[in-house]
Amino acid sequence: MFSVLFFISFEVTFAQSEIYAVTAVDKKETSHNLTKVNWELRGQFNYFYFRCLQGDSEFDLEFSKILTVNFIGSKKKINGDYYRPADIRLTSGSEKTIYLTSEGVLEGISQSFGSKKEIEITDIKSINFHHDGTFQKCPLCNTVFYNKNINNCPFDGKKLEAISNNK
Ligand SMILES: [Zn+2]
Repeated sequence: MFSVLFFISFEVTFAQSEIYAVTAVDKKETSHNLTKVNWELRGQFNYFYFRCLQGDSEFDLEFSKILTVNFIGSKKKINGDYYRPADIRLTSGSEKTIYLTSEGVLEGISQSFGSKKEIEITDIKSINFHHDGTFQKCPLCNTVFYNKNINNCPFDGKKLEAISNNK
C-alpha cells in the first residue's frame, strides 16, 4: 500500500508545472482544501482539465480557465459517458451552464492531513479554484500550500517560499 501511494504522488509531482489548489465541497457540506489537484480517471490517468459537453460538442475545460464549478443537477448518460449539469464561472469573467463529467475522482493533497485525498466527482457539490497567485512551496519536499497561515512545512519544518501560479 505504501509503495502504491508513493508511486501516485511521484506521478503527480512529475507534472509540477501544473499546480492547482481548490476548495471542494461535497454533498455532506464538508469542505476539502486540496493542492496539486488533478482529475483522475479509472485510477490511472491524471488530467488538468475536465471533460465537458455543450450541445453536441465535447471539449476539455482547462483548470486554468475555471474559477468555480457548481453542480446543479443529477448525472445523465450522454454518448456513453456520465455528465452532470453545472454552472461554471470562468477566469475570463463569463458564466455558462454546461455538462461536466461526473466520472472519476478529484485528486489532490489534503491541506488538513498532508496526504492524498480522492473525492468522487459525483459526490462533489462545488469546486472553487484558487488562482490568486499566493501559493507557497516547500523548497525541500516541494509540497505546495495556499493557506497563508502556514509559514513552515508541516512535514519537514522548512520555511515556505512564495510562488506564483499566474500564467
Ligand atoms: Zn516540506
